[in-house]
Amino acid sequence: MINEDIYQDLLQLIPSDKIKIDEPLKRYTYTKTGGKADFYIIPTKNQEVQAIVKYAYEHQIPVTYLGNGSNIIIREGGIRGIVISLLALNYIDVSDDAIIAGSGAAIIDVSRVARDYALTGLEFACGIPGSIGGAVYMNAGAYGGEVKDCIDYALCVNDQGELIKLTTNELELDYRNSIIQQQHLVVLEAAFTLAPGNINDIQETMDDLTERRESKQPLEYPSCGSVFQRPPGHFAGKLIQDAKLQGHRIGGVEVSTKHAGFMVNVDNGTATDYEDLIHYVQKVVKEKFDVELNREVRIIGEHPKTD
Ligand SMILES: Cc1cc2nc3c(=O)[nH]c(=O)nc-3n(C[C@H](O)[C@H](O)[C@H](O)COP(=O)(O)OP(=O)(O)OC[C@H]3O[C@@H](n4cnc5c(N)ncnc54)[C@H](O)[C@@H]3O)c2cc1C
Repeated sequence: MINEDIYQDLLQLIPSDKIKIDEPLKRYTYTKTGGKADFYIIPTKNQEVQAIVKYAYEHQIPVTYLGNGSNIIIREGGIRGIVISLLALNYIDVSDDAIIAGSGAAIIDVSRVARDYALTGLEFACGIPGSIGGAVYMNAGAYGGEVKDCIDYALCVNDQGELIKLTTNELELDYRNSIIQQQHLVVLEAAFTLAPGNINDIQETMDDLTERRESKQPLEYPSCGSVFQRPPGHFAGKLIQDAKLQGHRIGGVEVSTKHAGFMVNVDNGTATDYEDLIHYVQKVVKEKFDVELNREVRIIGEHPKTD
């Protein structure tokens, strides 16, 4: 199918102002990298997501999901097919000790709403810049807490466009892993069960975590957070620091001098710069300490054409 046919079909499924053609994706990533998406779609209803996924499946068009873009490096060649941004599904509803949030809600906002309702359990997320969907996909966590601890269920759509509801166990949440990744599902909403708490205590914990984050992380630069997963028995940042790689720069991307686990885009860096620096750091750490560093950050999209 040519893109004009796809566009005409998409117009039957979603309003035209929610479809962008050849949209530069660097606008939507924390690393400020990324070429164009053939179609960038911003559904405002769960049913629209379902309809687009089903359509793409029937026409064998690849679909990519984007949340807040805080854990992703998109290559300069961009993404073919359809990119669905979930950010407009950003409702947050509270009832008793449960919060139900759309996949596009910022988990920081959800943790603040929990605090406002004196519900404890989401304090760990007060500085994680992801969406609910991205947080479930990654089983995001910090300072001893993770999504797995408080999620009740996630409402998802499979590749065929069918709705499925997965409970905590069914989500198979593990260290930065979930069944969402394995089965290419899209999260539409998630429910969290929290416990009654004291607003002042909750706020105190959030202030403490924010202070720790701000003092240790280079939040003033574009980045994707921790680039590598924690290798068993080690800390990625410590290994990188001990390998004297802080400040090492390729193109416009540098190993942060403030937090060795971060790579910051200091001067119009590209996805290629990120990838080259990641490979270099992996190589040096392997040579020096015989430890494999596996990526936490996702790298997607096509390499730029070299003609
Ligand atoms: C400064 C900084 C600090 C960070 N600190 C932490 C931290 O403390 N702990 C932590 O765990 N992470 C941290 N991160 C990483 C990141 O915020 C988390 O991984 C977050 O959960 C990613 O969510 P997102 O919406 O930004 O996902 P995106 O970056 O948009 O996407 C990440 C992956 O999730 C998929 N995805 C996104 N939404 C959906 C959906 N609705 N359905 C299906 N798949 C989806 C995407 O396809 C992609 O593969 C940090 C990042 C930065 C930049």
